[in-house]
Amino acid sequence: MIELPQHNTAFCREHFLAYFENQVRRAIQDFRMFTPDDRILVAVSGGKDSLVLWEVLLRLGYQADGLYIDLGIGDYSVASREKAEAFAAARGATLRIVSLKEQYDVTVPELARSLRRPACSGCGLAKRYLFNLEAEKGEYDVLATGHNLDDEAATLFGNVLHWNLEALRRQSPVLEAENGFRRKVKPLIRLTERETAAYAILTGIDYIVEECPHAVGARSHVYKELLNQLELRSPGAKRQFLLGFYERGRAAIEGATERPEVRPCKVCGQPTVAEVCSFCRMMQRVGVDEVRLMTAAGVE
Ligand code: AMP
Ligand code: ZN
Repeated sequence: MIELPQHNTAFCREHFLAYFENQVRRAIQDFRMFTPDDRILVAVSGGKDSLVLWEVLLRLGYQADGLYIDLGIGDYSVASREKAEAFAAARGATLRIVSLKEQYDVTVPELARSLRRPACSGCGLAKRYLFNLEAEKGEYDVLATGHNLDDEAATLFGNVLHWNLEALRRQSPVLEAENGFRRKVKPLIRLTERETAAYAILTGIDYIVEECPHAVGARSHVYKELLNQLELRSPGAKRQFLLGFYERGRAAIEGATERPEVRPCKVCGQPTVAEVCSFCRMMQRVGVDEVRLMTAAGVE
């Protein structure tokens, strides 16, 4: 059914599913991501990776709820939200939904227009902020994202290319809870995009195939393409690059940068290195008032 040159092997349907689930299990154990007692919030975009992650965690018997953030990106958000909702409904799973429009009366395209910045920067900031806020509000022990081996290898490549030591230090399959940040994990780091797509198809997961319209032409695509070309010539290189970094590279740069001091944002109380966090500053710049930011964050 599927050939995996990086492992010098091929699988039938049944054994591919077992292999896939084992790779997730292994990442969870090797990096001590969570235990069956932990309550997990899975950030789901409606795309294949995060829905596959949710599916596998449920199959493995973990307590996993979903979180969908409606960013207001036109038809793309409407369609991806439907996929996430249908997935949850079919499994009787709990899906939390946060709408940027409802909560802050602004959408990602509006943010980009007002700030005159690429949509992806505001979008990434909003997602990271809401992941932490929602995990905190719902008292989840850990927040899981669907980042796969290709995503993380491409990010690593970019971080190395620019020798961004601060980003390298933070690039990890597990970020421990500290200073108001909830624990963050990436259980799919041992699996490629091709493998998650195969798993989704073989288990009948209906996901949004289209990409976010803003992501077209993203730099990470170039890095992914480069790494895939390398992978063709040298099967296993991509995996070695990423997993070798986690096993040996990270420790070597651990003390290379200073850890900035973290404190609660004066407006919303979420952790930040500034007086006011970058999310609140961005929202204030587009006219969202302080009361709204406080109310949304659940502070009096
Ligand atoms: P991306 O940043 O779009 O590559 O997505 C990386 C991960 O973030 C996905 O695998 C999801 O776990 C999560 N994610 C992306 N978009 C959303 C969204 N709209 N709502 C909830 N989680 C998301
Ligand atoms: Zn804030």
